[in-house]
Amino acid sequence: MSLPRNPVSIAGAGPAGALLAILLRRRGFPVTLYERRADPRNQPFDSGRSINLAMTERGINALRRAGVFERIRDALIPMRGRMIHDLDGRTSLQPYGQRPQEVIYSISRNLLNEMLIQAASQEFSAVVHFEHEVLDVDPVGGMARVRRAAPDRIVDLQMGTLIAADGAGSTLRTKLQSRGEFQVRTDFLEHAYKELSIPAGLNGLPVMEREALHIWPRGNHMLIALPNPDGSFTATLFLQRRAFDALREPDQIEGFLAASFPDVISLMPQRLAEFQNHPTGALGTVHTQPWHIGGSVLLLGDAAHAIVPFHGQGMNCCFEDCVEFDALMDHHASWEALFREFERLRKPNTDAIAAMAIENYLEMRERVADARYQLQKLLSLELEKRHPRRFIPRYSMVSFHPEIGYATATARGRVQQRILDDLTLHATRLEQIDFERAAADIGDSLSPL
Ligand SMILES: Cc1cc2nc3c(=O)[nH]c(=O)nc-3n(C[C@H](O)[C@H](O)[C@H](O)COP(=O)(O)OP(=O)(O)OC[C@H]3O[C@@H](n4cnc5c(N)ncnc54)[C@H](O)[C@@H]3O)c2cc1C
Repeated sequence: MSLPRNPVSIAGAGPAGALLAILLRRRGFPVTLYERRADPRNQPFDSGRSINLAMTERGINALRRAGVFERIRDALIPMRGRMIHDLDGRTSLQPYGQRPQEVIYSISRNLLNEMLIQAASQEFSAVVHFEHEVLDVDPVGGMARVRRAAPDRIVDLQMGTLIAADGAGSTLRTKLQSRGEFQVRTDFLEHAYKELSIPAGLNGLPVMEREALHIWPRGNHMLIALPNPDGSFTATLFLQRRAFDALREPDQIEGFLAASFPDVISLMPQRLAEFQNHPTGALGTVHTQPWHIGGSVLLLGDAAHAIVPFHGQGMNCCFEDCVEFDALMDHHASWEALFREFERLRKPNTDAIAAMAIENYLEMRERVADARYQLQKLLSLELEKRHPRRFIPRYSMVSFHPEIGYATATARGRVQQRILDDLTLHATRLEQIDFERAAADIGDSLSPL
């Protein structure tokens, strides 16, 4: 069974668009990428917006399947757990997993994107047009309206099959929604984010534990920080938008940061200027239905299903989209059938990670510092040791087990949470847990994986 070998155009050379271009080129399809921005390989660092990302096994697995993982392997910085910073300055490390390989990684967004674009264009010969913004598409005629930067002109171009990988704020999704082709709902969080920096110390040495994702949970707001290769950290402050808006004067900003994060502000010499000058980013979940128009246009990646960043899965999920799409190509003889099946199989999983990301938002802000939550985390790891084929902590299923879909992780996670709640109802320490009862419950409630 084989798909018609017509040209494929991709709007957006972000992580999803660039990886998909590689996969399509590997199969010999003619591919053209249209990217609104200039070539990132010739640009200065784009600061102020999500400089680094958490990559987990799901993303790594997808990059491996596409044959490009080795190119970025050396740029990954392991993060072994969450380093929780209490208000009184005490820190504690909550490991993400219990095996040496169960870590997540920090990676520079720019570096990753440049590597994928380089591979797509150089090694796999995809055509990439930078400074080409796709403004609209006519799904029937297959023509798209594109704004070219040099010279500044709007042109109509033939697209072939068009994949819109133009991100959370997708222009194409919005255009097609306005014509009734897609139903779209964006649930914005009341919280927004802003990036701040923690430079390296003397001799480029990190000023905090390097191999950890640092969290300052403060109930209604939180700060997190991920390590960079140069010894610095990129911190992200999550705060209600109206609180951001209310913090205008330097004294207010300094006062807020000093009261909330006293142990770290001395490590952030640029905090005031960054707070005032860096953009405040919105956070939301995009729900779209359907994801395609016949066999002519498909939304993929954040354009179809952007999520909030609290599980560190958005990009990982987009990479998984690409390899799942690629695997389905072997089984369909028309683009329409392929798009339909892709949406049918993928949407339950992307809906599941969207919901888990919202749950993690509450968990990271509020629960990580809670004693019962910490006991349940320890207990989860202990139960996994005792019942490795049946009980895998939900965070581990999502982050370390790409063979378990997000929807399955959600369903099993729900059962596991009920077991954890039952077992810790009257316990405050691991020694008080009734492991015989746990074994019986797990045997009855969770099938082997
Ligand atoms: C604060 C924050 C932190 C995050 N942290 C993580 C994390 O730790 N781990 C993780 O896995 N995910 C994380 N994410 C999510 C991750 O950034 C996204 O899921 C991922 O970037 C989506 O990839 P994409 O290619 O679909 O879209 P994008 O990355 O948005 O790329 C879209 C591309 O399309 C281009 N474009 C846009 N419009 C047009 C147009 N009209 N024509 C042509 N080109 C266009 C853009 O310039 C861009 O290059 C985070 C997100 C945020 C906001």
